[in-house]
Amino acid sequence: MSNSEYDTNNIFAKILRGEIPAHKIYEDDETLAFMDIMPRGEGHCLVIPKSPARNIFDMEPDSLIAVTKVVQRVSKAVMAAFNADGVTIQQLNEAASGQEVFHYHCHIIPRHDGVKVGPPGIMGDGEQIAANAERIRAALIS
Ligand code: 5GP
Repeated sequence: MSNSEYDTNNIFAKILRGEIPAHKIYEDDETLAFMDIMPRGEGHCLVIPKSPARNIFDMEPDSLIAVTKVVQRVSKAVMAAFNADGVTIQQLNEAASGQEVFHYHCHIIPRHDGVKVGPPGIMGDGEQIAANAERIRAALIS
C-alpha cells in the first residue's frame, strides 16, 4: 500500500462503524471523541474525523477545522475534569513520526506540573477509563 491510501480496516474506522467498542465522550456529524485505550495519563483521549483520512496530508480543510474545534472544546473539559495545569495535544503523520493508527487523530493528554507523560503501549484499566470518560462528559455539559 502506498502511504497515501486509506485503509478502511484501521481500528478507528472499526470504532466509527461500531464494530469494536469505545468509551465515547463526544460526537457530532463530523467528529468523534473517545478515550485512548492505552492512556499516557489519566484522561488521555482522542478526537477523530468521521470522514476517512489517513493523516494530515489527506484531511479536507473543513474536516480539519471541525476536528480542531472539538479538540479545543474537549481540552477545556479535560482541564476542568482533571484539575489539569495544561494539556499536550499530539498529532502524528506517517510511521516515521510514530503514527500507528492510520486514521487522522489528535491526542489530548492532561498534564500536571512536574509530571511526565507515561509510556506508550500499556493497556489501561477499563473501569478507570470508563470513569475518566464520565468525568470528561460531565465537564463538557457543565
Ligand atoms: P498514534 O501513535 O497513531 O498517534 O496513536 C494511536 C493511539 O491509538 C495510541 O495512543 C493507542 O493507544 C490508541 N489505540 C490503539 N488501539 C486502540 C483501540 O482499539 N481503541 C482505542 N480507544 N485506542 C486505541
